Amino acid sequence: MTNKLLQKVYSPVFFQEKGYRLVDELTAHLNDKLNEDSDKAIHWNDPEQELLFWKEFLINGNENDLFKTITERTTYVHHPHYIGHQVSPAAPITALTGMISSLLNNGMAVYEMGMSPSAIERVVTDILCEKIGWNSEARGFLTSGGTLANLTALLAARKAISKENIWNEGMSRPLGIMVSEEAHYCVDRAARIMGLGEKGIIKIPCTKSFQMDTLVLEEKYKDATNKGISIFAIVGSAPSTATGIFDDLEAIGNFAENHGLWFHVDGAHGGAGIFSKKYKHTLRGIEKADSVVIDGHKMMMLPTITTALLLKNGIYAHATFSQKADYLLTDSDHEDWYNSGKRTFECTKTMMSIHWYTMLKFYGEEVFEAYVNQLYDMGSAFGEIVNNHTSFALAVTPMANIVCFRFVDSSLSQDQLNELNAKIRQQLLEDGEFYIVQTKLRGWHYLRVTVMNPFTTEEHFQKLLKKIEGIAKKLISP
Ligand SMILES: *Cc1c(COP(=O)(O)O)cnc(C)c1O
Repeated sequence: MTNKLLQKVYSPVFFQEKGYRLVDELTAHLNDKLNEDSDKAIHWNDPEQELLFWKEFLINGNENDLFKTITERTTYVHHPHYIGHQVSPAAPITALTGMISSLLNNGMAVYEMGMSPSAIERVVTDILCEKIGWNSEARGFLTSGGTLANLTALLAARKAISKENIWNEGMSRPLGIMVSEEAHYCVDRAARIMGLGEKGIIKIPCTKSFQMDTLVLEEKYKDATNKGISIFAIVGSAPSTATGIFDDLEAIGNFAENHGLWFHVDGAHGGAGIFSKKYKHTLRGIEKADSVVIDGHKMMMLPTITTALLLKNGIYAHATFSQKADYLLTDSDHEDWYNSGKRTFECTKTMMSIHWYTMLKFYGEEVFEAYVNQLYDMGSAFGEIVNNHTSFALAVTPMANIVCFRFVDSSLSQDQLNELNAKIRQQLLEDGEFYIVQTKLRGWHYLRVTVMNPFTTEEHFQKLLKKIEGIAKKLISP
């Protein structure tokens, strides 16, 4: 091959040179962000401004600055002041497994396009199933994100529970699922994609503390059934994204059992609690679930996107996308667990199992316990600090590392306070010293913190609250 450009693309020397340099740059980035609090967690730029910058850079930027510039113009998830969204500061070792996955590029759809990652995926998902408390009939697989995993779980549920052959013949009567009003929006989206429509999404109201109100389940079920809707699944959140509050999985599991429903647990955020002796109680009843989703890129320090979908009965792991009707599937069907594409929504996927396995191999499963414990402990510590502060109010006592709170001032109305808290969050974002997010709960505008970095301390929280007070004062009387 004589094409010079293509030779350059595949030049091992070019790769090595760029690679060494990048590892040095990322190491410097880590050193800086993990140990040095003085810099900002985000250098905020307006989207239009950012767009112009990158249009310009493509033409005039120095290629040697490319990787460094991308790194600089991001949100620094390794900074202890990054306490916003639920994406973890990835364990640095997984940047290396990410590199392996990208270079080897085994597409995983069939076994021979990913022998080691396919077998490793089985090892990893078997461990997760065992931790949930299931027996050896359970199976899992990895897929691209909690959103896709929840959709896949509901498809498995419909196949398993519905008496009709919907996969081949389409839906002939209204079906529905039950889910808390505080569930992640992707459950609602999944139900709509499946053609259930608005009426097929039976929203269960929450208690004062934002937990699915399990006392109204019977009534809601009866209502829907009377309207001719066949409920096939109920979804519990562990926890719900906005508030970080866990549903009572035991009660939901019992209800599902009594009515022959599929019980799905959306543990995208908190499913990792299965590794924690201290916080396992948040997931009490999870073993009753038929399916569980756990995001590795949230509470397990893995890079995006790394998600496990786990099923109590392994048959359904390969039934979802099979043409065969559910009643024709048997235990003796040849179970080719190693051909990933038959069970996942996606055909090609990344070698995501190797991130998980590498963490287990280098640090042991205790590492997941240590991470969950540290972050949930700090969530609770921040909750207490807020609760004891006269200028702030909690939405609810945190159960995990997600804390919703707002600035309060008795001389202001609800509308004024909502406007004030929204302005506070915008100023924080533009200032960049801290990165936090926001949410609306029952008509109140809340600031929202998710403690994701094990290096975040109580001093950081105190500093944040002081800063917010300062901003609020200026906004109230400029
Ligand atoms: C984050 C989250 C999701 C979505 O997962 P992605 O990996 O972002 O697609 C779904 N449910 C809950 C409860 C979540 O916290």
